[in-house]
Amino acid sequence: MQERKRVVIIGGGITGLTAAYYLTKQSHNIDVTLIEATDRLGGKIDTLKKDGFTIERGPDSFLERKVDAKQLVQDLGLDDELVRNATGQAFILSQDRLHPIPKGSKMGIPLEWKPFLRSSLFSIRGKVAAFNDLIIGRSEENGDQSVGHFFRRRLGNQVVDRLIHPLISGIYAGDIDYLSLNATFPHFKEVEANHKSLIKGLRESDNQTNKKNQQGQFMTLKSGLQTIVNQIKAELPQESINLNQRVTHIEKKNDSYTVHIEHQNEPIEADDIIMTTPHRVTEKIFSQYDFIHDFSDAKSTSVANVALAFEKDAIDNLPHGTGFVVSRKEQYRITACTWTHKKWPHTTPEGHILVRAYVGKPGDEEVLEKSNEEIEQIVLKDLQTIMEINKPPLFKVVSRWHNAMPQYTVGHLDRLETLENKLAEHLPNVYVAGASYRGVGLPDCIKQAKSVVQQIKQKMN
Ligand code: FAD
Repeated sequence: MQERKRVVIIGGGITGLTAAYYLTKQSHNIDVTLIEATDRLGGKIDTLKKDGFTIERGPDSFLERKVDAKQLVQDLGLDDELVRNATGQAFILSQDRLHPIPKGSKMGIPLEWKPFLRSSLFSIRGKVAAFNDLIIGRSEENGDQSVGHFFRRRLGNQVVDRLIHPLISGIYAGDIDYLSLNATFPHFKEVEANHKSLIKGLRESDNQTNKKNQQGQFMTLKSGLQTIVNQIKAELPQESINLNQRVTHIEKKNDSYTVHIEHQNEPIEADDIIMTTPHRVTEKIFSQYDFIHDFSDAKSTSVANVALAFEKDAIDNLPHGTGFVVSRKEQYRITACTWTHKKWPHTTPEGHILVRAYVGKPGDEEVLEKSNEEIEQIVLKDLQTIMEINKPPLFKVVSRWHNAMPQYTVGHLDRLETLENKLAEHLPNVYVAGASYRGVGLPDCIKQAKSVVQQIKQKMN
């Protein structure tokens, strides 16, 4: 008879939960133990229901194109819950005005000339600079480079600062002049290499893709993303879930590991460990190993968001669209805003408005240290530059996320490869997965968890 394997998963966010779910579902000779430091599962996923509103305090949706999140929802039998975002015009806030994102642009790269040339967002000089992409040819750089460097060379500073940077910051909340191109947008580098021009290459691939499916690109669950968490919780053996247990350190003992938990005398024994904590936590847990400290060189960014619920007549001139991001190098403190009731109508009761705005970016993270009232005032002041708010919100919900957005700086993938090689050498059967490593989005985290599950299963065969 095959011996049972003890797999301990550290962290009950989406990565840890996914690993626990697929391991339990797919293997009968594995004992899974999930250890979570706080009193709740879900990590960054946190849905709040209030007065008929569904408010996502963390992520609100996932990309449909990256299949692993949708697949997990389907595996959990939650297909009926899936809903796509309503599409609409998105804007850039610059100089106290909302400028429509030019039609036909992809992550800020202009694929249609007419709307780009007509755009009020750029000066003539800024527009002319973007044509450079068609003539400069491919870059000679072979190694990694920053996203900012790559796009500035091809499209000029204005398109980058006013359009590309705010859009990318909406995902990574970072400074694109430090962000690794290889770790975040390798596809753009490939397009440049194959077509010598981003615009030409992306146009060609756009023409080949099925234009029928150009409706919403994002999906969420009608009852909120927390439903994924709750469903996984319901499907796991309840004795495998350990809440309020903070792992302090892990020791290697011959071929197995001893997991120590704060305020507990009895450690947990494990054959395999899946670390899904942010890397700064993983570093502390394995602090005796020097190589673990070499991996990440950048502090994660802290952000906060404020959800504001209004009666419909509280805002007079709400623009037609789904939201906006804020141009860099301007005086605003908000970085993005979604008119949630338009993008996700199911979240908001009839006759109401739900707005969610973000603050916090590199260089302005101290905003998180302010009181809720101060953060609300900062957000309302910025929103009032473009919206006439004539009644106070029905309620406000401030959510703070300290050190929540990992920064994949230039060289990230090389450092990750070194980390994984060293782990295999010094700490066999210890795996790292989650937002610190191979993608911050929910589908990427889920994919990483599935990949570790596959590795563990393969070793057992
Ligand atoms: P986490 O969710 O951080 O889970 C790690 C878990 O480990 C936590 O539960 C934590 O309590 C636990 N832990 C920490 N230390 C210990 C310890 N010592 N012992 C035991 N447990 C410990 N992605 C999208 O795809 N779409 C979005 O719309 C989107 N929006 C976002 C909005 C915000 C505000 C944020 C912060 C992120 C957003 N993301 C979005 C990114 C995505 O939500 C996260 O990258 C993802 O949820 C991270 O999952 P994870 O399991 O890797 O980590």
